[in-house]
Amino acid sequence: MKKNLETICVQGGWKPKNGEPRVLPIYQSTTFKYSSTEEMADLFDLKADGYFYTRLANPTNDAVAAKINELEGGVGCVLTSSGQAANFYAIFNICQAGDHFITSNTIYGGTFNLFGVTLKKLGIDCTFIDPDWSDEQIEAAFQPNTKCFFGETISNPGGNVFDIERFAKMAHKHGVPLIVDNTFATPINCRPFEWGCDIVTHSTTKYMDGHATQVGGAVIDSGNFDWEAYADKFPGLTTPDESYHGLTYTKAFGKKAYVTKLVSQLMRDLGSIPAPQNCFLLNLGLETLHLRMPRHCENAQKVAEWLQANPKVAWVNYCGLPGNKYYDLAQKYLPNGSCGVIAFGLKGTREEAVRFMDALDFVAIVTHVADARTCVLHPASHTHRQLSDEQLREAGVAPDLIRLSVGIENVNDIIADLEQAMQKI
Ligand code: PLP
Repeated sequence: MKKNLETICVQGGWKPKNGEPRVLPIYQSTTFKYSSTEEMADLFDLKADGYFYTRLANPTNDAVAAKINELEGGVGCVLTSSGQAANFYAIFNICQAGDHFITSNTIYGGTFNLFGVTLKKLGIDCTFIDPDWSDEQIEAAFQPNTKCFFGETISNPGGNVFDIERFAKMAHKHGVPLIVDNTFATPINCRPFEWGCDIVTHSTTKYMDGHATQVGGAVIDSGNFDWEAYADKFPGLTTPDESYHGLTYTKAFGKKAYVTKLVSQLMRDLGSIPAPQNCFLLNLGLETLHLRMPRHCENAQKVAEWLQANPKVAWVNYCGLPGNKYYDLAQKYLPNGSCGVIAFGLKGTREEAVRFMDALDFVAIVTHVADARTCVLHPASHTHRQLSDEQLREAGVAPDLIRLSVGIENVNDIIADLEQAMQKI
């Protein structure tokens, strides 16, 4: 029976049989017992299904992965130990030394650094494009060795909305998949596969968890990209993997080729799995995701409107505000609301921004975003401090940008706290 998102949030993934716990159990075990050598050997030879080592599969983790997969509408999901690991694996699963990919330049600072610095050290090059460029300008970035296109549904911290359908068409025209980091929108507000995206990633640390209790990530495969049609571009998927029984992923696993390779090759060799305890916590968060997201959006809309009307505020970027540059794209991709994150700048100097933030009461300064508690951050001094001013501008992060992550408290209290802090500048 096909279920709605709300039901999947609450009941997806864990399907207890008679006499089993109603609540997802924590299988906090590295290993799983077998009574004969042959039974264990059959698992290694892929002749039988079963758990044997938590780095490759664990019942708690699998149940949560199944829930997220169902929410996004994919064919398979792999959970990772962080959002960073998810984005690394999503790219590294199809790119190797000598390859190239294209990414939006308005992405989270950590991802910007991963792509622009660390992947380069591994011989994987990328071109940062401005999503506002014309098709012609962006298409000029494709090279014969380009393997994918990457962007964030709603960018962190700028709040720019990614034109998924436009970029999916462009990627497909050049024979590569579109990968979208859907962290801020969550599948409650946007399901990128419905717009032609091929692979979705998440930092589950954010809204999916919602309580800031664990760091985690996810990669979900739509199963829609035809790797065989571009077999020469993706030899890792379309030719035998000698380290994995000489299997060719596309032939052996069909639509699940990408996600199977990610587990059986990358997870096997690099690790980065989440702890079952963390997956349990993530699952608790997911059970209320459908209730929290509308409240985040409702509160953020009111706060954004209040900020816009405030004479001390220089500018506000929230795609729910009519007249915002991304309003029309938000209406298309995020008709039920975007997220709780607002970017704004105060009139005056950087010092004023710091004084405002220091004067806040329960709206806390934390290096986090997208959870139940309202929080605030100055990316230029915190998350993005490794970027130069030029890189900051390239990433759409103004030096005066304050990132306000509106929580699910009473909105009048949130506004009152902002108001009293503004009076102190
Ligand atoms: N993607 C986005 C959009 C993020 O905002 C973040 C973190 O803020 C990440 C990825 C990285 O996730 P994590 O902190 O879980 O490694």
